Amino acid sequence: TNRDLESLRDKPCETLDGFRLPLWVNTGLMADVTRSLEQGAEGVGLYRTEVPFLLRERFPSEEEQRQIYRNQLEAFAPRPVTMRTLDVGGDKALPYFPIEEDNPFLGWRGIRVTLDHPEIFLSQVRAMLKANDGLDNLRIMLPMVSNVSELDEALSLIHRCHREVQQEGVSSALPPIGVMVEVPAAVYQARALARRVDFLSVGSNDLTQYLLAVDRNNSRVADLYHSFHPAVLQALHHVAAAARGEGKQVSICGELAGDPLAAVLLLAMGYDVLSMNATSLPRVKKALRSVNRTESAALLEEIMALEDGNAIHRRLESALVQRG
Ligand code: PEP
Ligand code: MG
Repeated sequence: TNRDLESLRDKPCETLDGFRLPLWVNTGLMADVTRSLEQGAEGVGLYRTEVPFLLRERFPSEEEQRQIYRNQLEAFAPRPVTMRTLDVGGDKALPYFPIEEDNPFLGWRGIRVTLDHPEIFLSQVRAMLKANDGLDNLRIMLPMVSNVSELDEALSLIHRCHREVQQEGVSSALPPIGVMVEVPAAVYQARALARRVDFLSVGSNDLTQYLLAVDRNNSRVADLYHSFHPAVLQALHHVAAAARGEGKQVSICGELAGDPLAAVLLLAMGYDVLSMNATSLPRVKKALRSVNRTESAALLEEIMALEDGNAIHRRLESALVQRG
C-alpha cells in the first residue's frame, strides 16, 4: 500500500544481507526537487540541464545558469548532484536553436553539438563550477560520447574552465567528471572511457534504442523496445565489469533503473548507484530490501544464460513474486 511505501522513506536501501545500494534521482524541474527529497533520495544521478534551456526563449546567460544550478546544488547539499551538460538534438529541440535533419537520433546531438559550439559548453561549465563554490557537491556528466577524442576534448575544456574560475576566486576543487554510456560504441570502449574519468553512467534509454535499432518514441515499434533483451543485459553487465576493472564508480540513470525487476539484476551486476524518477524510488527500495545480494548473483547467472527477453522477464517476475 501507499502507506507501506511511505514508511520506507527513512529506511536505507539495503538488501537482506546488509548490502547498501544508494538510490538517486533524475531531475530537471524545480518541482522534482521536493518530490525527490520526500522520497528520501540520496543524490541526483542525472540533472537534465536542457530542461531550464527548454523553458526559455533564448540561451540563458552564464549568470542565469549559475543561479539555476546553485538552486539545484543547494537543495540537495550535501548530497551529490550530477549535472549533465546540454543534451539537445535527437528528440529534444530548443525553439531558438532549430536542428533540421533526416535522422536526428544519428545526428547532431549531445556532446557533438556542444563541442562544435564551445561557447555554449564553456559558459555552461563555468556556471556549474561557480555555482559549486563552497558547496562541493557537483559532478559533471557528458552525454552521447562515442569516442575517446570527444571525451579528451571535453575534459580539456572543463579543465580550462576550472582554471579560469579559480582565477576569478572560486576555491572549489575540480568536481568528479563522468561519461554517459548510451551509444553501443561506448560499451565496447568502456574501459578506455573509464580510465579517463571518475565514473560511468549508463543511459539505458538511448542505449536500448541504439542496440536494438528501435526508436524510443515510435509506438509502431514499441513492442521491439525490450529492456530485458539479452543484448541489453549483456551490455549492462559488460559496462559494470569494465568500470570496476578500472576501479571507477558505475551507475545507471535510464528508466530501467526504476524497474524493480531490473534493479535486482543491476545489484547483482555490481552497479554502485541506481538513479531514477522520484516516483519509482519507493518501489525499487522495497524490492531491493526484500532480496539477498548473494542470491541475486545466482539469479543473474541463470538470467544471462537465457536467450529470449520475454523468458527473462517471466523468470524475474517469478523470482520476485516468491520474495513477496
Ligand atoms: C538515457 O538515454 O537513458 C538518458 C538517461 O538520457 P535521456 O533520457 O535524457 O536521453
Ligand atoms: Mg540519453
